[in-house]
Amino acid sequence: MIYRTLGRTGLQVSVVGYGASPLGAEFGRIDPEEGRRAVHHAIACGINYFDVAPYYGRTLAETRLGEFLEDKRHQVILATKVGRYDIDHFDFSARCVVSSVDESLRRLRTDVIDVIQIHDIEYGDRAQIVHETLPALYSLVEAGKVRFVGITGYPLLQLADVISQTRVDTILSYCRYNLFDTTMDAMLTPVAKERGVGLINASPLHMRALTEKGAPDWHPAPQAVIEKSREVADWCRSQGVDIADLAMQYALAYDDVATTLVGMSKVSHVDSNVKAVGVAPDPRLLAEIQAMIDPVADVVWREGRPENDDPGAVPKQS
Ligand code: NAD
Repeated sequence: MIYRTLGRTGLQVSVVGYGASPLGAEFGRIDPEEGRRAVHHAIACGINYFDVAPYYGRTLAETRLGEFLEDKRHQVILATKVGRYDIDHFDFSARCVVSSVDESLRRLRTDVIDVIQIHDIEYGDRAQIVHETLPALYSLVEAGKVRFVGITGYPLLQLADVISQTRVDTILSYCRYNLFDTTMDAMLTPVAKERGVGLINASPLHMRALTEKGAPDWHPAPQAVIEKSREVADWCRSQGVDIADLAMQYALAYDDVATTLVGMSKVSHVDSNVKAVGVAPDPRLLAEIQAMIDPVADVVWREGRPENDDPGAVPKQS
């Protein structure tokens, strides 16, 4: 495993991070015992950064992760979230997020959360996030319940705007640095580096579009992107390569990001993703794939309040 520093937190995090959303059955039903084995195998492989949220499986993922980490809590850096509780249920008030942290501590069977993040800030009011939610979470740092505070979301300019205004320790951005979209590099990375904010990149497989199984029905990307994902997976197969391996190698090579979060409820997925660490993508294959993707590269969809849209964002497919 390779470790990188997560910005000003100073935490040394594994370049592959464990995404726990599948433990809450976000991509379909899973075998919980296989999920337990995947968590333990990830730790054995040196993965030390674990990301979850009350939203995943409407608390199921936190409950399962807390159970699977019993006796192993000291081996991992644990990140969870506040503010999002269902597809369209958000509450970023100080009162809500403070009690949410207490509930997460109970479910995760721990007395401290290493990184607490405001979940999908594009659905909130920017002034409330800056003047109410973030201060409430920093008061929990004083109280010893959390160690560091971060924000997460899809549109990049709003994330950049918040860290320009106030102190934030980490940012989790998803679907904005992978084979389909690399806009994080120009739109977020420079300001994050300047402000010392630790960068976390999620969804290196573009929410399963860059896998043999393909995108789930609820994938928000336009149809042209989904069709292209099938085309590139087919072409990779014809070359004897699994598209997911190439996609992981590509994302992990981006060293401005401290950790890349990928959802893993199967031991075999942990193995494949760990194998990609430190492996450069084959330049010929990469060039072919990038040329194929080019007509739909960097397509961005709308997520959250319209005032938070990045330029050129298109309506969501689902
Ligand atoms: P992803 O797009 O990289 O993976 C999607 C799915 O692909 C996984 O859930 C798994 O079912 C499958 N998969 C994993 N490895 C595979 C492999 N080697 N071969 C084939 N299939 C494989 O990532 P994701 O699940 O969308 O995101 C990763 C994590 O990041 C999430 O679990 C969550 O913790 C976090 N995340 C956070 C936010 C947010 O805060 N707003 C948004 C997206 C993701």
